[in-house]
This record gives sequence, structure tokens and C-alpha cells, in this order.
Amino acid sequence: KESLSKTRKNFVEKIDSIVTGRKVIDEELYEELEEALIQADVGIDASLELVENLRAEVKSRRISNPEDLYTVLKELIQDILGVASTDININSAQPAVIMVVGVNGVGKTTTIGKLAHYFKANGKSVLLSAADTFRAAAIDQLEIWGNRVGVAVIKHSEGSDPAAVAFDSMHAAQARKIDVLIVDTAGRLHTKSNLMEELKKVHRVIGREMPDAPHEVLLVLDATTGQNAISQARLFKEAVGVTGIALTKLDGTAKGGVVIAIKQGLDIPIKMIGVGEGIDDLRPFDAREFVDALFA
Ligand code: GDP
Repeated sequence: KESLSKTRKNFVEKIDSIVTGRKVIDEELYEELEEALIQADVGIDASLELVENLRAEVKSRRISNPEDLYTVLKELIQDILGVASTDININSAQPAVIMVVGVNGVGKTTTIGKLAHYFKANGKSVLLSAADTFRAAAIDQLEIWGNRVGVAVIKHSEGSDPAAVAFDSMHAAQARKIDVLIVDTAGRLHTKSNLMEELKKVHRVIGREMPDAPHEVLLVLDATTGQNAISQARLFKEAVGVTGIALTKLDGTAKGGVVIAIKQGLDIPIKMIGVGEGIDDLRPFDAREFVDALFA
């Protein structure tokens, strides 16, 4: 809850201050609300939709007190986000294979480390696959996390074929009867098309070793990048069919409204949120909890 304090300031408190002390619900008020939503990274489309729905509610419920808009907006945001939470499904297969994708710097390695810890804490055996072979540092970082969490890492040398690492990891996971295999992948953005081809190949190889795998393609997005996160998501979705999002760095950003933009603009559920740099700072995303914390 603390982790959303900046978003709350930039977003909900602003909405509160817009409606407080107002006498009438007029055009100017709607415009100010729309502006506040857009500035909080809710996204243009979602902001317009919200304000449009707000108008409809005001009309149908005959609301005349501007201060009531606060509660109505909370309800409308909850409507967009829904109340169901979608877990990462790791129980339907052994190993459950999670392919993790995302641009460098978004917190991919950290999220993999936290995820490994999360599953391990839930009694699952975990194996990591260092299929970002593009940078030696990526392999090293993953090993550091592996040591910290106490799980093994399958790796080749820098510059080797990522698909070959994924292939070996699949076999190791099957031989060792691992519950969850988490596959790290490259995230260099400057050679976009090559990266997407590489990810497709890794995806293909995993699927060839085990039908239905990968069971999850988890895209890591950085909340502090706001609307950029949306365009990254479209790119990865098209290449490898993203099944879930891990949204990092929600702590310390005022751009938490991006959660609404993601939900409205992409047909991909947010499954986990990162709320700090520590090993325990990864949580399943719960839409109701999120809205309650925001409007607390
Ligand atoms: P990668 O290049 O995508 O693998 O990024 P890293 O995992 O190395 O993370 C980049 C930076 O973001 C590191 O300093 C992490 O500690 C930090 N980071 C990752 N997740 C979070 C988060 O949820 N909150 C905060 N505050 N920092 C995070």
C-alpha cells in the first residue's frame, strides 16, 4: 500500500482536489478530470472512456454533487480493472515453463530472481535458464540471483545460441523433475528484428521439447516508463504471444495509472507487480486491492 503513495498523490489526491468545494458538475470539471487522468498515465483512450462513462453515470444516477464523482470514478476504474486476479499457472505441467521477455533495464533479472524465490517459498523446485547469452553480465546477474535464492542456473558461454541454452534447460528440468523452469531471454532493443527472431526461436525450441510449453510468456514492463510500456507490450505480443505481464517499479513512481492503460489497451492480464528491489518485493496483482490502496 505504501508503494503506491506517489501514484496516489499524483492521481487520486488530484482528483479529490478537483472535485472538492465545487458547486456544480460542468464541462470544465470534466475537462480537469480528464487532464488529471491523462497526466497520471492512465492513457488517452482509457481517460476518454472513463470520463465518458462518468458523464453517463452522472446522468443516469442524477448525481449533482461534484464530490460524489470521486466514488463514481473509483467504481468505474474498478469496472475497467475487474476484480478477478490471474495467477501464473504453474500447476498444470511439470516442468511448468515460464519464458520471461522484456527490454533491458525494466527489471527482468530482478523479477526472475524474485519469482524463483516466490515459487520456492511455495514449496516448488525451480531451475533458471540463462538464455540471454548476448551479455556476459546478464548470465552473471542471473547466477547471483540463483545463488541468493538457492536454485541452479543452466548456462552456456556468452555469445552462444540462446535456443541451445533453452533446449538444455528443458532437458535438465525434465531429468531433475523440476516444478518450474524460468527462462531468461535477451532484451537488447537496438536490434529489434533480430531480437524478435531470437525470441521466436527460443519459443519454438521450448515448444518442440514439450507440447503446450512455454506455459507462460511473461513480459516484464517498467511502470516508470508510462506509455512506452504499452508500445513495448504490442511489440512483444506480436512476436511471441505474451500471456501475462509483470509490472515492475510501481514503488516510487507516480505513473501507477499505467495499470489502467495496460488493462484497457492490451488484452493481457497483469499477473505480478514489483514494489521494490528486495527479494520479497514481488506480489500477485490483485485489482481490487490495487484500487482500494489507490483510493485509500
Ligand atoms: P534487467 O536489465 O531488465 O534485467 O534489469 P535488472 O533486473 O537488472 O533491474 C534494473 C534495476 O531496476 C535494478 O537496479 C533493480 O534493482 C531495479 N528494480 C527491478 N525491479 C524493481 C522494482 O520493482 N522496484 C524498484 N524500485 N526497483 C526495481
